[in-house]
Amino acid sequence: MLKGHELATFRKQLLSWFRQFQRDLPWRRTSDPYRIWLSEIMLQQTRVAAAIPYYEEFLKRFPDVHSLAAAPQEEVLRLWSGLGYYSRARNLQRAAQQIVAKHGGQFPQRVEDALALPGIGNYTAAAILSIAFTQKYAVLDGNVARVLARLGALRGDVRESKRWQELQDTAEVLLEPKSPGDWNQAMMELGATLCTPKSPQCLLCPIMQFCEGRKQGIAESLPEKRKKRATVEVILAAAVFSDKKGQTLLLPPPKNSAEKASADHVPTLVSKMWHFPTVSVNGDPAGNLLAFLRKLFSKMQISKVQLAPTGKVRHAVTYRAITVLPFVIDVKNLPRISGAKQVPLNDISDLPISNLTRKVARAALEAAVLTPAKR
Ligand code: SF4
Repeated sequence: MLKGHELATFRKQLLSWFRQFQRDLPWRRTSDPYRIWLSEIMLQQTRVAAAIPYYEEFLKRFPDVHSLAAAPQEEVLRLWSGLGYYSRARNLQRAAQQIVAKHGGQFPQRVEDALALPGIGNYTAAAILSIAFTQKYAVLDGNVARVLARLGALRGDVRESKRWQELQDTAEVLLEPKSPGDWNQAMMELGATLCTPKSPQCLLCPIMQFCEGRKQGIAESLPEKRKKRATVEVILAAAVFSDKKGQTLLLPPPKNSAEKASADHVPTLVSKMWHFPTVSVNGDPAGNLLAFLRKLFSKMQISKVQLAPTGKVRHAVTYRAITVLPFVIDVKNLPRISGAKQVPLNDISDLPISNLTRKVARAALEAAVLTPAKR
């Protein structure tokens, strides 16, 4: 563990490097806790380049915590649509509502209050409080853990709770107390730009002389890999109805546990958003889908439909490898079911939908171009 003069040099070198070479990112041009909070939530599962346009659009529509708290949830999800991990957006809005109701619209500055908000854990609380309010909390996320594991040549699974706590303690000791916000961002920036998972650029690293992993020649192999959960293969069949006007039918977000039980993986995979009628496949995909549709709609509506297969859509969500088999169903009139919505197939993004649903729509549209429907 670094101490005294060495620790001071370490801090100075990393901070000066950050101040000179940091990327110009929109959330670095503000000290507004709302904006910093939004960026931290978006960046939890999303790369910087992908998050920027979402961040900007989101702020145009919801420039402050009040506008977010008062918005219909559907609109929040629509602006999040494509970023994935939609519970982040739901929690963000619930937290905004609590901030308005309990904290007069101001992001709370006490760490206990910040941690009590939905979607805010240790990392996010430390990031917001240090960057927006200069409070002395050190962040620890995957990027920072990798840097620290390499600096200390720490072996083993860093996500194991005892090791994670050791890393948190180390991060607190290293934290520059006068500029905790810049310091945290400097650690994250180093992990994101130089101390990357593969091929760390040690020769450009501002703190290379302190790095035990580099000295021992093992930096690239750290942190050691975690045992991966086995991949589960999931096959789904989706019904893409299409009427004469090019309208299709989407079902509302799955809600109750009974629906969850009947449709198996489907509610999780559509991320509780608008989706095509979809069923898990066990055997004959077209047969399974037809049986599902007959249960969903009245038999009359589904009696003479033809299911046209359109290839495969592949998608991965955490440990699931998903294959969706979309079937286009040309109909004169779309079947009716309470709660469903009719939308143009080539523009379903007016409703909040997951990436998986977007891919299914795209596959159906591509198939329609290749084999125009006979109507
Ligand atoms: S010297 Fe290399 S491994 Fe060590 S912190 Fe810097 S970039 Fe990472």
